[in-house]
Amino acid sequence: MSGPSKGSDKRFERKFRAGVLGATGMVGQRFVRMLANHPWFELAELAASERSSGKKYGDVVKWHLDSPIPEAARDLLVKELAPNLDCDFVFSALDSSVAGPAEEDFARAGYPVLSNSKNHRMDPDVPLLIPEVNSAHLDAIAVQQKNRGYDGGFIVTNPNCSTAGLVLVLKPLADAFGLEKIFVVTMQAVSGAGYPGVASLDILGNVVPFISGEEEKMEEEPQKLLGKWDGSRFVEAGMGISAHCNRVPVRDGHMECVSLSLKKIASIHEVAEVLRDFAVDDELASLPTAVRNPVVVVEEDNRPQPRRDADAGNGMAAVVGRIRECSLLDVKLTLLSHNLVRGAAGAAVLNAELLAVRGYLQHRVAVPLPVAEPIPR
Ligand code: NAP
Repeated sequence: MSGPSKGSDKRFERKFRAGVLGATGMVGQRFVRMLANHPWFELAELAASERSSGKKYGDVVKWHLDSPIPEAARDLLVKELAPNLDCDFVFSALDSSVAGPAEEDFARAGYPVLSNSKNHRMDPDVPLLIPEVNSAHLDAIAVQQKNRGYDGGFIVTNPNCSTAGLVLVLKPLADAFGLEKIFVVTMQAVSGAGYPGVASLDILGNVVPFISGEEEKMEEEPQKLLGKWDGSRFVEAGMGISAHCNRVPVRDGHMECVSLSLKKIASIHEVAEVLRDFAVDDELASLPTAVRNPVVVVEEDNRPQPRRDADAGNGMAAVVGRIRECSLLDVKLTLLSHNLVRGAAGAAVLNAELLAVRGYLQHRVAVPLPVAEPIPR
């Protein structure tokens, strides 16, 4: 995905200047590519660890994408992780070992932070956002700013890469029929583990039936996403969820086999129809990275497949197939979504676009650099 295709959208007089924290990683590179050609956002600053800072991006990044490093990024100097970047807001693709306090430092310094990392997803005053699912949760930002004394800054997160696809598919079903129980088994791509990620000798010709912390995230995050913000706190959706997570030798695209029970009886035909008809409203559909129908239903018995379907809807759609009766629960299906786009960079860019149209992003005044004291002669 090279960037949004809705082209010449002139909704904002000036572009918002975006910084990318963790710009050299797998997710960071996706941000860099998406921002290189964005109608509302301009790639202004890049930051990473001290291994990379002080060097030109093009010299230090191990670029993994098929298209070349965007010109806008190649010569940018990678900065250290300090909240004095010359930009209006930041995307965070930081390793979770550093993301927690770093994102708080940026929010405290007045930056809106759009985070991919797990650290703040379940905080009681931080929106865990999928615009097509729970945009009303943005109301928590005001409470977060009050609780934490943030002046202009805040943190908004996007879900874990497997949760993102799952919840996109669960949302229309929850609205139409209600959800009782969900049983999900994942087959997750290696790019989900970052770079260098899983050692080739561990994954080639193999399946690893454990991804640290992943099952917990898949069981917790949907409760918040499909739950409600009641004005002062998040109220969980209260479904039963059991997840098994596996790493498989696939490059991009997380596949999930899901069985679910519904509160209201529905036929397989009705379930398929509700998924096929899931469409976002005009406000969301007008966002550069959005797709009108974020769930794509395929008919073929042998789809979805990561290599063939991960880029559906520019990587922003969840692809569902094999919708059929389940002899234990009510319905079973297979879904696929792009872990680095829908599950990471694309998700955060879409979140930022929604924040922009809702007035949460502002043009910040440049942070003055400290003036060096004249050396006495
Ligand atoms: P990655 O490839 O390992 O990249 C990590 C980034 O963090 C690099 O830019 C690295 O910079 C930077 N970093 C590491 N230690 C740092 C430090 N001490 N100070 C400043 N920067 C530091 O990981 P990734 O796959 O892109 O994932 C990034 C985040 O997104 C993680 O929190 C991950 O859990 C989350 N996420 C990933 C996916 C996915 O599918 N991959 C999906 C959803 C969410 P250097 O290059 O300079 O070391």
